[in-house]
Amino acid sequence: MVDDCIFCKIAAGEIPCIKLHEDDETLAFMDINPANEGHALVIPKTHAPNLFTVDPDSLGAVVRAAQKIAIAVQAALDPPGMNLLQCNGPAAAQSVQHFHMHLLPRQTDDRLSLNWGLRPGDAEAVEAAAERIRRHLD
Ligand code: AMP
Ligand code: ZN
Repeated sequence: MVDDCIFCKIAAGEIPCIKLHEDDETLAFMDINPANEGHALVIPKTHAPNLFTVDPDSLGAVVRAAQKIAIAVQAALDPPGMNLLQCNGPAAAQSVQHFHMHLLPRQTDDRLSLNWGLRPGDAEAVEAAAERIRRHLD
């Protein structure tokens, strides 16, 4: 755990999140600034700042969890597209320095760019999407 890392604090349960799934190595939760309905994040519980430093076993665990969550998001929300996305460095708009993968459902002509900007979501709508996704998880 790294001081002042918001995702370490979420992984430790010190800061709340809208949780989707957890295993020994990873945690999946809803993005607080959803670019689209169902926007979720998967993180390793062990801190690493980015793709260049994340432990390969940790990375494998995150990718496996991301597939599980993606299947649930697809089943729950049926978006016509989905990106699995990961950002490193300021030009890639990385805003949290704890490795994470975005599961970003896409809508036709949603005009999202790679650096989509952060706008707070409606908490009730995010929780409602999470509840629909959870029904498709064990
Ligand atoms: P990135 O810009 O790729 O580093 O993505 C970081 C993501 O974390 C952004 O999409 C933020 O909206 C999201 N985020 C930041 N703080 C929180 C939080 N407390 N709970 C959920 N998502 C968060
Ligand atoms: Zn961290």
